[in-house]
Amino acid sequence: RSQALRSYATASPTAAFAGQKGSNGNYTVTLIPGDGIGPEISQSIKNIYTAAKVPIQWEEVDVTPVLKGGKTVIPDAAVSSIKKNTVALKGPLATPIGKGHVSLNLTLRRTFNLFANVRPCVSIPGYKTPYDDVNTVLIRENTEGEYSGIEHEVVDGVVQSIKLITWDASERVARYAFNYAQAHGRKRVTAVHKANIMKMSDGMFLSACRQVAKEFPKIAYDEDLLDRACLRITQNPAPYSDRVMVMPNLYGDILSDMCAGLIGGLGLTPSGNIGRDASIFEAVHGSAPDIAGKGLANPTALLLSSMMMLRHMNLNEYADKIEKAALTTIAEGKHVTGDLGGKASTKEYTQAIITKL
Ligand code: NAD
Repeated sequence: RSQALRSYATASPTAAFAGQKGSNGNYTVTLIPGDGIGPEISQSIKNIYTAAKVPIQWEEVDVTPVLKGGKTVIPDAAVSSIKKNTVALKGPLATPIGKGHVSLNLTLRRTFNLFANVRPCVSIPGYKTPYDDVNTVLIRENTEGEYSGIEHEVVDGVVQSIKLITWDASERVARYAFNYAQAHGRKRVTAVHKANIMKMSDGMFLSACRQVAKEFPKIAYDEDLLDRACLRITQNPAPYSDRVMVMPNLYGDILSDMCAGLIGGLGLTPSGNIGRDASIFEAVHGSAPDIAGKGLANPTALLLSSMMMLRHMNLNEYADKIEKAALTTIAEGKHVTGDLGGKASTKEYTQAIITKL
C-alpha cells in the first residue's frame, strides 16, 4: 500500500501548484462534472470531500461547447475559472465519433497547454487480479502526435492524417518524466516508441529523450518498442515497477488502457494533465454511456485522480486519509461496485468509504 500511495503523487519541480487560499482558508478548485456517469461520480467525490473536511471549495462550471465566430469553443466562464484556480477536477466528456464538434478534452489540453499526462497504474492491495505487483507510471505527451487534429481528404477515397512531433514538446515531456522519476524515487525512464517504422517522427522523440537523459546521470535510461513493451508487461509486469515510461500521445492512450486491464479495469486508473500554469485531473475512462444514470459507476478512478490533485496542492494528509479509506473498502470487497465483482451502487460504495474516514 505504501508503494501505491507514493505512485499517485504528482508533484514535480517543473509544474508546481501556485494556487492561493481564500479568506475562509479554503482553496477553490474548478469542477467539471462531465457527461454520462460524470455527474454521479463527481457527486461521490464531493460527498467524500465534505466528510473528510478537505479545505477546498468547488467552483462548478459547464463546458457545453458554444458557437463563437463559427467555431465551437469552451465557454469563457469555464476557461477563466481554470485560469484563476490553476487546478481542476474533471469528469469524462463524450466526443462524437466521425462528425460533430472537436474533442473538448483536446481543446482543454490545448487551451491550457497541458503537456504531460501522468497515468499511474498500480495494483490495488487485496483486489485479486492475475498479477498483484503492477506499479508503473506512464507519461504521455499530451499535445501533439496523431492528436494534432490535422486531417484532410487528398483526393476522393484518400485521407491524410498528420502525426506531428516537435522537438520542443518531446524535450518538455521527457524532462517532466525524468523530474517525475527523480521526485518519486523511480530508478529508470523508458522511452516507448516505433522508431523502427516512424524513423523521423519517433526518431526525433527518442533523440530528445536521449539528450534530456544526459542531464540525469543517476537515472537509468532505455528504450523499448511499443509492441514489445505490450507483450512484456502482460507477461510479467514486475520489471516495470521501478520505472516511468514516457511516450508519444497515441501510444500512451492505448498502453494505459492495457495496463488498466492488468489491475482490474478502467474503474481504477487515475490521471493528471499537467501544465505549467494549470493542471486538470481526470480518470482515464470515458463517460461510460452504457451504465450512465443507473447508479452502477465506480467512482474510484476519479477519486484517485483527485488524490493526485490533492498531492499536487500539497494537501497530502487529506489524500492519505481518503486513499486509505477507499483502498481498504476495495480490499474488504463487501461494498464494491459491479465492475469489481460486487453488488454495491455508487452511493453505497461511497458511503462505505465515508464510514472509514
Ligand atoms: P468508456 O471508458 O466510457 O467505457 C468503456 C467501458 O468501461 C464501458 O463498458 C464502461 O461501462 C466501462 N467503464 C468505464 N468507466 C467506468 C467506471 N467508472 N465504472 C464502471 N465501469 C466503467 O469508453 P467508451 O465507451 O469508448 O467512450 C465513451 C465516451 O467517452 C466517448 O464519447 C469517448 O469519446 C469519451 N471519452 C472521454 C474521455 C475523457 O473525458 N477523458 C476518455 C475516454 C473516452
